[in-house]
Amino acid sequence: MASIDTADLKRMFDEIAVAIEADKDRLCQLDGVIGDADHGIAMGLGFGAVRDALASLDLAATEPTALLNTAAKSFLNAVGASSGPLYATAFMRGAAAVKGKAILADADFIALFQAMAQGIQDRGKAEIGEKTMVDAWLPAAQAAAAADAAGKTLAESLTVALEAAERGAQATKDMIAAKGRSSRLGERSLGHTDPGAASAVTVIGAIRKGLG
Ligand code: ADP
Ligand code: MG
Repeated sequence: MASIDTADLKRMFDEIAVAIEADKDRLCQLDGVIGDADHGIAMGLGFGAVRDALASLDLAATEPTALLNTAAKSFLNAVGASSGPLYATAFMRGAAAVKGKAILADADFIALFQAMAQGIQDRGKAEIGEKTMVDAWLPAAQAAAAADAAGKTLAESLTVALEAAERGAQATKDMIAAKGRSSRLGERSLGHTDPGAASAVTVIGAIRKGLG
């Protein structure tokens, strides 16, 4: 059984910042097709700010909840685009899900991961099929929870989560955007991957790499 502390969570966020930075141009290109071409920049600014904020924390004196709330605040402050409040809510909900715990067991991290996905859905009010990051995050969280409940390791659970996110992001190509900026395009959004779903795959992949 894994035991995840604040140093592990910091490493995970560092991993996400690196992965998003490497993916920035592709995410901007995807957003350029059905949005305003800033998604890679927004995500880069957000996770860059999180990395900087976590670097100045005294990890030995910080619990996971405080680290995640710091991540939420810095992400929100750095990002003006819609992904700002969505990911900030994800981290705040994740923080609440592990409140009072200094070390996270596998099931705690799965609860955190589920709370993040639920937070994104609650904040943006998007349902599955509306061509948003929810189409990647929700199936990923469900797959991770199911794998954990079936006795899989955290690494295995995060691997099936990543696969579910990839399928979800791929499926957004055949969806008509019903939430966010791209919903203005209506049927013209068909045939294009949602940038937020694409970045969710990158984030979840980095989470798996950071903790797996
Ligand atoms: P903006 O649209 O303000 O420029 P970004 O480019 O950073 O913001 O992010 C766009 C992504 O945000 C979309 O691809 C979609 O995945 C996600 N998104 C937008 N609105 C919502 C919503 N209501 N619920 C969930 N996700 C959303
Ligand atoms: Mg945008």
